[in-house]
Amino acid sequence: MGKIALYPGSFDPITKGHIDIIKRSSNLFDKLIIGIFKNSTKSKAWFSDEEKVEMIQEILKKEGIEAEIKIFNGLLVDFMYKENVNILIRGLRALSDYEYELQFALTNSALAKNDFETVFLTASREYLYLSSSLVKEIALNEGQLGIFVPKIVEEELRKKVKEIKHNR
Ligand code: ADP
Repeated sequence: MGKIALYPGSFDPITKGHIDIIKRSSNLFDKLIIGIFKNSTKSKAWFSDEEKVEMIQEILKKEGIEAEIKIFNGLLVDFMYKENVNILIRGLRALSDYEYELQFALTNSALAKNDFETVFLTASREYLYLSSSLVKEIALNEGQLGIFVPKIVEEELRKKVKEIKHNR
């Protein structure tokens, strides 16, 4: 069995920063799983799990990236054992990510009795300050989204903003 990597996140929605990490890690390992943390019932996510899967699926197809998409809940380590994952991928942006990511990596490796490694990929310069919440803020204020997200995500964001404003 080869090296199986998992890239977990909320992806609410997926941005060009995430896609950059996905592209780069898909070249590094034998198999890549994109793990979407299942929305909890009290989650403030804009997108449902299914909507996230559909968007990511379309992007992978368009970009010719080979990866599996899976929704999971519960402990990350349990999911990793179930899927035989040996490598956890995380993206590091500015210094502000460091503390949270270190805590995340160390907790998971303690829970997993060191059965896997966390690999950090640094964000590419153009996406260093890009986050899903920033993208939602721009969408709410009808700003330009093209540099931050692919077309399909932009379209879905515009639809969501219409729904949100309609329901206010
Ligand atoms: P979370 O819900 O844990 O914040 P996200 O879905 O926002 O997860 O992100 C998942 C992973 O992708 C995290 O490791 C995060 O640091 C990384 N990431 C998010 N945005 C970017 C970006 N612009 N460039 C590189 N990595 C990123």
